[in-house]
Amino acid sequence: MNTSRKQQIFVKTKQMPTLLSKLPNVGDTIFSQMNAVANEVQAINLGQGFPDYQPDSDLLDVVCQAMMRGPNQYAPMIGVPALRQAIANKVLALQGRQYDVDQEITVTSGASEALSASILALVHPADEVVLIDPAYDLYAPMVTLAGGKTVRVAMTPPGGGQSNFALDWDAIAAAINRNTRLLVLNFPHNPSGLTLRDADLDALEQLAAQHPFLILLDEAYEHIVFDERVYCSPVARPQLAERCVLVSSFAKTLQITGWKIGYCCAPAAISKEIRKVHQYMVFSVNTPLQQGIATYLSQSNATQTLSPLYQRKRDRLVQGLSKTRLQPLRCEGTFFLLVDTSKLGDQQERQMAIRLAREAGVATIPVSAFYENPQAAEANHQLLRFCFAKQDATLDAAIERLSVL
Ligand code: PMP
Ligand code: GLN
Repeated sequence: MNTSRKQQIFVKTKQMPTLLSKLPNVGDTIFSQMNAVANEVQAINLGQGFPDYQPDSDLLDVVCQAMMRGPNQYAPMIGVPALRQAIANKVLALQGRQYDVDQEITVTSGASEALSASILALVHPADEVVLIDPAYDLYAPMVTLAGGKTVRVAMTPPGGGQSNFALDWDAIAAAINRNTRLLVLNFPHNPSGLTLRDADLDALEQLAAQHPFLILLDEAYEHIVFDERVYCSPVARPQLAERCVLVSSFAKTLQITGWKIGYCCAPAAISKEIRKVHQYMVFSVNTPLQQGIATYLSQSNATQTLSPLYQRKRDRLVQGLSKTRLQPLRCEGTFFLLVDTSKLGDQQERQMAIRLAREAGVATIPVSAFYENPQAAEANHQLLRFCFAKQDATLDAAIERLSVL
């Protein structure tokens, strides 16, 4: 290389601006980390939440037909009309709220994009956003990117006669003030499986009457609730629906976590702002998948078969774990079961998860990862999250392995 070329590179390098991370404390998510451990030790992966079986072949057929027939070009920015109509029907049937197909429903790239676009559109610098711990990992970094401030309120952990985490409405009320822009609620709750009750909606209505905050509802597990529970969504109450953004996904409902199709429903003025972000973030979402899902929803009762399917799997795992030293907690919904590991020792949850993967060959997720500081004593309750969206044979093999501990 001649000298002037070398000099050029040197000068260029010297002129590089300092790289300032917007998320300095963020690394790979716990799901990627535990996938890596699972792959390394060839563990049965009950960590990241995804089914280990194929979606319904009828769904695959209609999506293939949609792709063959076309269109395969950009979908409308707000989503394919047939899918928005199917979402409106589904939300009316389950959540009990009628959303306008053109003004209030937007198809997004998974629940992740719906949540991210909502937070970026609604949270301004210095706004406070209340998160309930344990909280799904996406919310806090997105609030940071929006310039907002997270205010984290812990659920009461299990123990002392309480069979799972429980909402503490007094603590939530104490965290809300005139700077609160958003309260994020995720029910059925990942990771605890907790669902909302009418009394929770009463408490929320009382709070909403006192402060003008918005509510971001992550209902990604809406179709997976057990033991004949009646589904409770804040949007069923008109006073609350006015300030709610309802987010969900087809990932769990149709067992297609790799397709990344979700949506959000919100009053027109709120949807308008969210769409401004969505249109520049992704513009629009995969056309044939949207079309195929719309066709499938019009001819299948898939959403109704999920709760019984996963209830059987939950019961199989709970029953199997009775042969081990692991103690399952009550699980009301989702496809996650929390398991108490205290009989195995008192390591922090992350170490325990790694130990289970290495010693028993079963990968799980430490619940502490859903807290602001996973190492803190308040984040460690000796609990691991097991995903039971797995073939019966996978669950049985995992139980067999866990019996050695
Ligand atoms: N919210 C919760 C509570 C989740 O568990 C997940 C993971 N499925 C998401 C949002 C993200 O959903 P999606 O894969 O559709 O982006
Ligand atoms: N929602 C999935 C879970 O909780 C993870 C999705 C992801 O890896 N971001 O397991």
